[in-house]
Amino acid sequence: MARVPVAEGVFTWSSDEPRLIGSRCTACGIVTFPTQDSCPRCPSTEMAEHLLSRRGRLWAWTTQEFPPPSPPYAGPTGQAFVPYGVGYVDLAGEVRVETRLTEMEGLRTGMEMEIVLVPFRTDDDGNQVVTFAFRPVGGAKSSA
Ligand SMILES: [Zn+2]
Repeated sequence: MARVPVAEGVFTWSSDEPRLIGSRCTACGIVTFPTQDSCPRCPSTEMAEHLLSRRGRLWAWTTQEFPPPSPPYAGPTGQAFVPYGVGYVDLAGEVRVETRLTEMEGLRTGMEMEIVLVPFRTDDDGNQVVTFAFRPVGGAKSSA
């Protein structure tokens, strides 16, 4: 089974260490995710690709109990839908990222999280579509 990313230009994924692809304003330095063509803070349109940190701190989270609006959501619906964790991870000095979480047990505000790629769905060609998520560094129980 081939693995394909859920969308192009969201994360690097050819290695074991995926990185989210953001953009950084060359004028004022603000970082955005996902990438933007113009700066949200200043008049600049000079945005450079910026690979985000692989780790950050959990800021807030909840459980997605039902399928999000589609589009943009393109995952399982109906009986196939499984609730999952969603949250915000604060990548220090960069940006706060909205993300799936790999688990809901043992989460604490401020705990260190790292990006991983997880199976999302199987497409019509039988490829495994992967998306990004964050998990507690070292697991929820051992990261105290
Ligand atoms: Zn700017």
